[in-house]
Formats: sequence, structure tokens, C-alpha cells
Amino acid sequence: MHDRPVDQRIHDFGEVETGLTKSEAMHEAERCLQCKKPLCISGCPVNIDIPSFIREIAAGNFKKAAVIIKEQNMLPAICGRVCPQEVQCEGACILGNKDIPIAIGTLERFIADWERENGAVIPQKKALTGRRVAVVGAGPAGLTASAELARMGYSVTLFESLHEAGGVLMYGIPSFRLPKEIVKAEIDAVLSLGVDLRLNHLVGRSVTIQELLNYDAVFLGTGAGLPYFMNLPGENLPGVYSANEFLTRVNLMHADRFPLYDTPVKKGSRVVVAGGGNVAMDAARVALRLGGKVTLVYRRREEDLPARKAETARSKEEGIEFVMCSNPVRIIGDQVMTGVECVKMEMCDLDATGRPEPVPVEGSHFTIDADVFIAAIGQGPNPLLISELPELMRGKRGNVIVDEEFRTSLRKVYAGGDVATGAATVILAMGAAKQAAHAIDKMLREE
Ligand code: FAD
Ligand code: SF4
Repeated sequence: MHDRPVDQRIHDFGEVETGLTKSEAMHEAERCLQCKKPLCISGCPVNIDIPSFIREIAAGNFKKAAVIIKEQNMLPAICGRVCPQEVQCEGACILGNKDIPIAIGTLERFIADWERENGAVIPQKKALTGRRVAVVGAGPAGLTASAELARMGYSVTLFESLHEAGGVLMYGIPSFRLPKEIVKAEIDAVLSLGVDLRLNHLVGRSVTIQELLNYDAVFLGTGAGLPYFMNLPGENLPGVYSANEFLTRVNLMHADRFPLYDTPVKKGSRVVVAGGGNVAMDAARVALRLGGKVTLVYRRREEDLPARKAETARSKEEGIEFVMCSNPVRIIGDQVMTGVECVKMEMCDLDATGRPEPVPVEGSHFTIDADVFIAAIGQGPNPLLISELPELMRGKRGNVIVDEEFRTSLRKVYAGGDVATGAATVILAMGAAKQAAHAIDKMLREE
């Protein structure tokens, strides 16, 4: 995969990665061993027949490759761009033991882009069953559940509270990693299966719980969009954002083009971002493109950063300054923010997840000048709808509890994606949604 030069890409929101040529894709596909027991498939949560689509690429049959992928995955251009393949299919590829694994994600993206330019492949669907299923939330989980159920012959109504479908794919992940016209094209393919998308419908408010429960079954894919804050002194000063708000303003509301669009955002000249995941990297790179000098502060070591390695490397290349083993403790300023006070952290014992537990070092406080601060320290499940359903069992962090068939404690109500797992990944949300759709089908057929 090739990246646009740094000095070009940091001035716009155009895509960083430029993809493969036909001959590069065929050449890469030829490396596949076509294993008799391919490990890559079990590494893929939506079970794409990876060796078969790679074989078709090697033979130059791109349409056949698209048909194979679309059979299992309706969002391949998205997955090819943002899936953490290094720990999924590519992490399982046998070639990775001695050499470099096949670039499965890059090949999936190549085929999805080829398909978009050469006519969308729409998989077959069964005759209508006469049963109605409501899906709440049009993120990757809701879109996947909708596509799967529509293909099995259900009449699907997909409720989305925002004015655009896509969830985090539209409002969270910036267009330099995931262009929005690509997300829209894949959503259109899902809708072409007959899914009835209702935008600006907030279930629990503009759609009542009773209306929802009137459907034969319900899938909740409402995600984890509730940002956590650090509860720091000064957190209410202007210029302090959650990464969620900051990214939504720019990605969905086009604040970078204010006043052409009516939502503004403060373009900081010195920006501090707290956190070390994909969300933190995205917020930092957006702030950089808005013209800021950006410092990313993370409380653990560089090797503990949870963001994808490739995105961490790109963030560094683009000029984001990394301050590791440090944590913000105060936002400095009176009416106007002037800086962020941080403390150095020492890595002590391991925490419950096996990562080193950071502990503040006494007397190690230091200040970073800043006029914008962005907290990217995690999100919890969107509480609005699920708190309107008191019988729904929820975990400690507010996530909806589901069994192995994605059933919630409410009859005929299923859930999957971030609302059940807490903030995770696109492909895990899709994998869960697909399994939940099949469990709903089984339940309705057995009735
Ligand atoms: P969401 O995408 O959050 O979608 C939920 C949808 O439900 C939203 O559209 C919301 O508006 C709607 N909704 C909520 N409540 C209601 C209601 N009551 N009525 C109607 N609609 C409702 N993952 C990766 O795999 N790779 C990455 O590189 C990556 N980068 C990320 C970068 C950022 C900035 C963020 C925030 C996340 C990133 N993730 C990444 C995580 C990934 O995007 C999520 O795990 C995934 O989107 C979860 O999908 P979902 O469908 O469960 O939820
Ligand atoms: Fe090809 Fe790797 Fe899958 Fe084997 S594991 S079939 S080499 S992609």
C-alpha cells in the first residue's frame, strides 16, 4: 500500500492510503498458498472465504472475487480500510510465521474499490417471510444485521437518530482514513436489499418503546457514543472537547468549512490530546489538519498504545508530538485556556488486563501550552434507549448483557456491537450483528 506524501496530506482531508494497482494486487494474490485448512477464515469475524477471493484476484477475475466477498460482507471497502487485519485474518495467515502475511485487507479494499467503479454486486435475497424486524442504530452493527435479515426475507426497518447513516463510520473516523462517499456507497448497497432506513428517528423519543416492541423482533445496535471525561479542574473551559464531539463537529457537521456549514469548531494553535487509541490518533490528526501543533499525552508507554501500529506511525510521520508515561491533571486558564498541567507516570504492577498500571510520580508536574484540549479516553454505551428499557440487564459499564445467541434479557430483543461489548472494532460489531441476525431468524422460524 502506498501513502500520499506527508507534506501534501497534512493540509487536506483526502485519503492517505492510495491503494494497489491491478498488477500489484494480482502479484500479491499470487503469494497465497491456498492452504487446505486456511487459518485466515477463522481469523475473520464475518467468515469471508479468503483463499477463494484471493485465487480469483490472482486469475484476474475481479468480479468473481467481489461476489465471494459480498456473500459474507456487505461493507468490504470499509473493512478493507479500517479493520485491524494484523490481529484478525492477517494475524492468522500462515505466511506470517516466516515471512509477511498476505495483505488480505488491502486486497479486499482493492476488490471493493474495483466493484464500486464497475457496478455494485448485490447478493441474492429470499422471498419475503411477512415478518417485520426493527433494527436500531445504523452503524456497522445495525447495517450488517439489516442486510443479513433482508437477505433472509424479513421486512427490516432501520432507525437512526442522526441525519446520516453509518454511525462512527460517518461521524467518528475521519475521511483521510475512510472517505465518506465510500461509506455512503456501501450503505446504498445495503439499502438496495430493501431495508427501510428512517433517519432522524431517535428510538425512545420520536419512536416510542411500544412502537419498537410491536415488531416481531428487535436488534439493538446503538453503539458506544457516550464519551468519558477525566473530571479535571478546568474541564469546563472553552476549548475543551471530548474526541467524540470534536470529531463529530468536523466529520459530520463539516466544521472545518465553517461558515459554509453552520457548526463551528475551535481551531487550536496548540492542541493537547489525551489518550492512546484509534480515537486519540484520529482527533490528533484532525486537529493537525486544522492547523494546530499537536501533542498527544498517554499515561502508559509507547509499546502499550492501543491504536493500530500503522496509524501510530502515520501520526508520528505527520508531526504529532508524543509525550508518553504522562497524564493531564489540570486544564490551566481563567476565562481562556492557556495550557494543560500533566504529571509523569511510573509503570508499576500489571493491571487486570495485564497492562502495566501507571502511578503518578510525585513532584514531576510539567505544563504544555495549549488553547484546545481533547479527551480521548474512551466511550460507554449510548444510554438513552437502553435506560428506557428497565428490564434490560446491563453490565457494570452500562453495556447490554447478551447470551451466546445475542439475546438480551428482554424477549425477542437482541443486541450486538459496541452497545454490548463496549467500544471495540467495526468487524467485531459486524460479526456479532451477523450472528444475531441468524439467531433472530432461527427464533422466528421456530415460533
Ligand atoms: P456505532 O458505529 O456507534 O453506531 C451506532 C448508531 O446507533 C449511531 O449511528 C447512533 O446515532 C445510533 N443510535 C444510538 N442510539 C439510538 C437511538 N436511541 N435511536 C436511533 N439510533 C440510535 N474500529 C475499527 O475497527 N478500526 C478503526 O480504525 C476504528 N477507528 C475508530 C475511530 C474513532 C474516532 C472511533 C470513535 C471509533 C473507531 N473504531 C474503529 C471503533 C468502531 O468504529 C466501532 O467499534 C463501531 O463503529 C461500532 O459499531 P456499532 O454499530 O456497534 O456502533
Ligand atoms: Fe492464503 Fe494466508 Fe489464508 Fe493460507 S492463511 S489461504 S496463505 S491468506
